[in-house]
Amino acid sequence: LDYSVDKGWHDARIVPYGPITLDPAAKVFHYGQTIFEGLKAYRTADGRIQLFRPQKNFQRLNLSNARLSIPDVDGELALEALKALVRVDQDWIPDAPGTSLYIRPFVIATQAALGVAPSTHYKFMIIMSPVGAYYAEGINPVKIFVESDHVRAVKGGVGEAKTAGNYAAGLNAQEAASKKGYSQILWLDGVHRSYIEEVGSMNVFFKINGEVHTPALNGSILAGITRDSMIQLIKSWGIPVIERPITIEEIYEAGRTGALEEAFGTGTAAVISPVGELNWRDERLTINGGKTGELSSKLYETLTGIQNGTLPDPFGWTVEVPQA
Ligand code: PMP
Repeated sequence: LDYSVDKGWHDARIVPYGPITLDPAAKVFHYGQTIFEGLKAYRTADGRIQLFRPQKNFQRLNLSNARLSIPDVDGELALEALKALVRVDQDWIPDAPGTSLYIRPFVIATQAALGVAPSTHYKFMIIMSPVGAYYAEGINPVKIFVESDHVRAVKGGVGEAKTAGNYAAGLNAQEAASKKGYSQILWLDGVHRSYIEEVGSMNVFFKINGEVHTPALNGSILAGITRDSMIQLIKSWGIPVIERPITIEEIYEAGRTGALEEAFGTGTAAVISPVGELNWRDERLTINGGKTGELSSKLYETLTGIQNGTLPDPFGWTVEVPQA
């Protein structure tokens, strides 16, 4: 789908996957005017194909667009286009347990001009790839490095948009943490280096004294769709969920006194990643004995069951893709 100021969005089409041609002066290369989304299609045991909350992804795509001065994409048109594309590539959707088709919609600024101003031309594309089971042998807790030097996003910045710059800002710290044996980073706020924001590509939750706490959406955190789904599931089981500012000091204190029962990250890729260990300024905190907690397991089983169609979908989250 292309955009130009005079024609608006036009020329929706499905073409074989391959390289595209861009002018070296295309604005996306110089000013990072680009946004993206990530979601999955699943093949159910009885052969149906379903998407998980795709409308939410296109809503968030337009929030990101608005922040980056990119014109709105019609969410219904985008969903129809996605269904058509999934239908064409349906043979690619694996059916082994835990597998899925990862879908990456994105927009890039294509105007060839070096002035710093929003582009007059864009491309909206959707690419997809089959992905294997995230956990080949049951869900495994991760070790997370709490970053005190670099900051992913600041208030007033683009943190709540799903845009390239946020991820570019994190590459250095991610690389350093990975060399130390940590698979993910926990980001803190840019002013106090104390308030917990989110993990590299996940939102984060803490179970403290029987209640679940997660950082409130504050303008610099991505509003995860898995986050929203987890909050609804946990509340439906009668467990309180509190969205509020949470400091790393408080989590370490709760860890020391034994009040911290579980911690986990949530996102489209893994659905849930239990946190077995945090490292903040060289102080290690082991959570739940480094093992997967009961709530994490139940959330994982429930959400993946809804996504794979092995459990009922009382929330109406799944959208079927007709195969004919
Ligand atoms: N935070 C960031 C920075 C992310 O990239 C992601 C992955 N999209 C998430 C949180 C989780 O969002 P979702 O549940 O929508 O995948």
